[in-house]
Amino acid sequence: MAYDSENVFAKILRGEIPSEKVYEDEFSYAFKDIHPQAPVHLLVIPKGSYTDFDDFTAHASAQEKEGYFKAISKVAAQAGLQGKGYRLLFNIGKESGQAVPHLHAHILAGRVFSDKIV
Ligand code: 5GP
Repeated sequence: MAYDSENVFAKILRGEIPSEKVYEDEFSYAFKDIHPQAPVHLLVIPKGSYTDFDDFTAHASAQEKEGYFKAISKVAAQAGLQGKGYRLLFNIGKESGQAVPHLHAHILAGRVFSDKIV
């Protein structure tokens, strides 16, 4: 799938629509989900234009990958979740229900997840 630069997270990165920022560095940006599914629900996105995890894995540079994965951990640490536990989720493609075609990690925490599937 070609990257759609008009997707909502691209607009957030360009500052065209507002977001509640919780973290930013050279490679990554993190903000609160607008419809939280848990007391803590944060989204971490790479600044580069990648549709999903597979696109990122195939095409991002080693620096971008290292930066992004470290940023996810930093956001979790900053939210006080390391040691307590949290759920990290990537939806990838249509059948997963991915709604926004810009790679995003969901960080979910603060409740018991009864919908445990693995
Ligand atoms: P997906 O289903 O694509 O994995 O998740 C997309 C997530 O983005 C959803 O949890 C949804 O609530 C969130 N979202 C969609 N539009 C916006 C927005 O404009 N601002 C913020 N902060 N979150 C959004």
